[in-house]
Amino acid sequence: MTERPTMQNADRLAIARAAYDAVPLYDPKRAPIDLDLTDNTNLWGVPPTAERTLREVAVSSVTRYPTLYAAELKQELASYLGAGVTPEMVVTGCGSDDILDSAMRAFGEPGDLVAGSEPSFAMIPIFARMNALAYAGVPELPAQQPNVDALLATRARIIYLCSPNNPTGAVMARATIERVVSACRGVVFIDEAYAEFAGVSSVDLVQQSERVLVIRTMSKAFGLAGLRIGYAVGQPSLVMEVEKSRGPYKLNALAERMAIAALRHDMPWVNAHVALASALRERLADALRAMGLDPLPSSANFVCVPVANCVAVGQALRARGVAVRPFPALPHVGDALRISVGPWPMLQRVIDALGPSIAEVNG
Ligand code: PMP
Repeated sequence: MTERPTMQNADRLAIARAAYDAVPLYDPKRAPIDLDLTDNTNLWGVPPTAERTLREVAVSSVTRYPTLYAAELKQELASYLGAGVTPEMVVTGCGSDDILDSAMRAFGEPGDLVAGSEPSFAMIPIFARMNALAYAGVPELPAQQPNVDALLATRARIIYLCSPNNPTGAVMARATIERVVSACRGVVFIDEAYAEFAGVSSVDLVQQSERVLVIRTMSKAFGLAGLRIGYAVGQPSLVMEVEKSRGPYKLNALAERMAIAALRHDMPWVNAHVALASALRERLADALRAMGLDPLPSSANFVCVPVANCVAVGQALRARGVAVRPFPALPHVGDALRISVGPWPMLQRVIDALGPSIAEVNG
């Protein structure tokens, strides 16, 4: 048996505390804002059967513990995913945040390296540090594609890919993902939080490799972010490691009931709103182009648009009651704003507020 590296509790705590202190997390309560377009959730609300379930669920189901590992939801997710996925190939968690965190703990020993293409989901370096792993961010190439050679050269234990990527909205080329999967010596995480909006997925790759974990969520297309329902798909042996590291009872009883209701009965609603979000994303991009801006192509439910002095412009927008996420100094892009897509009146408000905000800051 190989010996596991040991670490003092005090070291672990110090690392977790430093990670906690170092990063300004998104706080939904900050500043009074009428229109929050910062977090790419479903701005049309909750699917109808899921909402009915919330009103009608028996109080007794909250008094008792939930199921250990959400077996019924795994079945429903397996049939939603298709591609030969079986329930043993699925693990659920308290949001895909929990899945990413647990999976890092499952596959990384203290000191191991996590490598990710940058820019990407801001929580990845934080989860790495919280689990006493090192993190290497590899700047992406032009056209918002990962630098595969540089990622592989890190010889990381875990390589993180995100498609469509947050914050750019770019889908990774299938050949790129396949190259990483075949050459990576460790585990490849493919984060598909926004896959429904792109209509493409790498879930089928889990049938070809025992080292691919595809991570997904019901926070975006399914409108259930507040319930915290994430899941991952992989070969049963891989998924079992995540489940052990995650522990029992992580998906609460109400979340499981509402997720099952949505998957069984609300797919027409979900699909219709995914189609609407995709159409309005293009309408928003056209309106931004009409203002002389040059948004990046997006396959998600948000648009990333280069805007100089994005932090100050973001503040000027906030003063007009609209919140979007600024991303300073993105590689090959520079300063940018990421705008979540919702019903058109919301997008019209951001368009109306953006011109004066840019004029105020950039003259
Ligand atoms: N991955 C990506 C790329 C995300 O953008 C987010 C949320 N912003 C998450 C994972 C986490 O989502 P959740 O924990 O709500 O499932």
